Amino acid sequence: MAFIQKQKGIYDSTHAPTWCAGCGNFSIWLSLKKALEQLKVPPHQVLIVYGVGCSGNMANTIHAYGWHSLHGRAVPTAVGAKLANQALTVIVAAGDGDGYGEGLSHFIHAIRGNVDITYLVHNNSVYGLTTGQAAPTASRGYKAKSTPEGIIEEPINPISLALASDASFVARGFSGKADQLVDLIKRGIQHPGFSLVDIFQPCVTFNKINTFKFYFDSIYSLQDDPTYTAADRKAALEKALQKDKLPVGLFYQNTKRPSYASELSYLEGKPLLTASGSRRNLQPLFKEFI
Ligand code: SF4
Repeated sequence: MAFIQKQKGIYDSTHAPTWCAGCGNFSIWLSLKKALEQLKVPPHQVLIVYGVGCSGNMANTIHAYGWHSLHGRAVPTAVGAKLANQALTVIVAAGDGDGYGEGLSHFIHAIRGNVDITYLVHNNSVYGLTTGQAAPTASRGYKAKSTPEGIIEEPINPISLALASDASFVARGFSGKADQLVDLIKRGIQHPGFSLVDIFQPCVTFNKINTFKFYFDSIYSLQDDPTYTAADRKAALEKALQKDKLPVGLFYQNTKRPSYASELSYLEGKPLLTASGSRRNLQPLFKEFI
């Protein structure tokens, strides 16, 4: 609790997270709050939709609107909220089990629509909340209590999957590189469409393979190469498929794809309740239910 009180930022809540000491979630939590503060978005204009998992533990610990969704359903919940009120900054915080397992199809369809939400995936390759079963990004051969002889499936590669689906913003951060993570979250929020920030988030309790040391030894930053522009989808896909080293940073951004809501003319770029056409259509419903 003393740790939180020192922050005294507008996004601080009176509740403390209960993550294990050293968990990579702490850095994501602090980075998200810092990004929102630096963007000067007021808390009442922010909705964070949480998935089920250790990441969802963030739900009471950020002073903004929050919605703890059903397992795997954080993305469609966020999509509905964004279409109902475009004035909101809508963020999803969920784990790789929730997002790339139970909720995988929602991920692809939100990309197809280019809905203007920012998706932060706490990627630790395990279901930490349920004590360490293997999640969809765990490497082939990974041993967990659910797979004692090692996984025989290939892992999901969220970056190549997003790029192949024509996502308009694809980035990957690491809990151990907080400054870069803050920058990626800010860029994702500012991007006018669907933005994925997949985040290597070590689960220090259950995953003894993908540790902080493993990532510090394995990652390099795409933006350290001045010739890498993040405008070339094919080049981004090549980086996403790299196996000997793990690139982090902004893989790809396309600001030319229109967002889903911008193509719904009856929304007039406004919240549903204030768009004239929508208000007319909703009146019978209001009369019936309110
Ligand atoms: Fe973090 Fe893993 Fe502990 Fe969950 S179980 S809080 S992911 S270290």
